[in-house]
This record gives sequence, C-alpha cells and structure tokens, in this order.
Amino acid sequence: MTNALEIYQLLPKTNCKQCGKATCMAFGAALLSREVTIDDCPPLKEDKFKENYEKLSQMITPSGEASESGMIVHTEKCIGCGNCVVACPVNVAEDPHGAGSGKAPTSENVILRVENGVVRLSNVNQCRRFGKNKIMCNGCIVTCPTKAIEFV
Ligand code: SF4
Ligand code: SF4
Ligand code: SF4
Repeated sequence: MTNALEIYQLLPKTNCKQCGKATCMAFGAALLSREVTIDDCPPLKEDKFKENYEKLSQMITPSGEASESGMIVHTEKCIGCGNCVVACPVNVAEDPHGAGSGKAPTSENVILRVENGVVRLSNVNQCRRFGKNKIMCNGCIVTCPTKAIEFV
C-alpha cells in the first residue's frame, strides 16, 4: 500500500505552499486521501519533475478494479467470512442490527456486505479513510484473514 512518505519523496519538497497546504508532507497526506490531485501542485508540472509526476500518477490513480476512494477487494481472495462487515464502524453505526451485528443488512448505507459469498462495496465515500476528516481506520483490513482488502 502506498504511504504518505513514499509520496512525499516524489514531491518537490520545497514547502512553497502553492497547493494551499502548509507543507509538501501535508499535500502528500491529502493526495493519499484523495482530497487533492497531483495537478494541484504547480511545481510538479515543471520539466524537471516529469518523471516524478508520472510515478506519482501511477501510485495515486486507482487501478481499474479500485473504487474511486482507492479501496480494492480482491474477490478471488475473499472467502465471505464477514469479519470486515461487522468490524467496519460505518456499518455498525449505519446498520447496528443488520450488517453491524453480523446479520443481513437492513440498510443501504453500509460500506461492506457479503453477497454470493464475496464482499461487495457500496457507499465507499463514507469510508473513514477518505476525505478531509480522514482517519487511518483499518477495521476491515486487520480483520480480514485472507488479506483481500487493500487501499491503493
Ligand atoms: S505546491 Fe507542491 S512543492 Fe509546493 S508545497 Fe505544495 S506539494 Fe510542495
Ligand atoms: S477502512 Fe474503516 S470505515 Fe473504511 S471500510 Fe474499512 S473498516 Fe469501514
Ligand atoms: S474479512 Fe476478508 S475474507 Fe472476510 S468477507 Fe471481508 S474481505 Fe472477505
């Protein structure tokens, strides 16, 4: 999984603030949470950073199978155990008596649900790892016995 430090290493590291962030490190964290895009850093478009720009694009752009928020479920690895479903705090908050308790979902507002033996994602933008108020939630990742969930 890409982390903010790896991203930072490819940024201009001048802390010029043209991106609206106080430091390049802060910009890197914002990139990771999809709050900004690499094009929000004007110096990165200079010729001397061309290679870094391309590397960053590859790191940040979710692969075809990833959701907009960068979350991927490797369905070939998912055994449908449902651990992630009951561990997700959003599932618990949105549907405490359904998905959050290990029963079938009773609400459409859950992020993770098991259908036909594999996890299906919905409402991924509610995931706590994304957006301005992002926290490093990892409930679904750490409870998955087969490492089927990844963030890119
Ligand atoms: S615009 Fe780019 S170089 Fe300047 S602080 Fe932001 S990330 Fe760093
Ligand atoms: S990272 Fe947290 S909020 Fe997001 S899907 Fe996983 S457990 Fe739910
Ligand atoms: S915890 Fe992992 S294996 Fe279990 S349902 Fe979730 S993604 Fe699938």
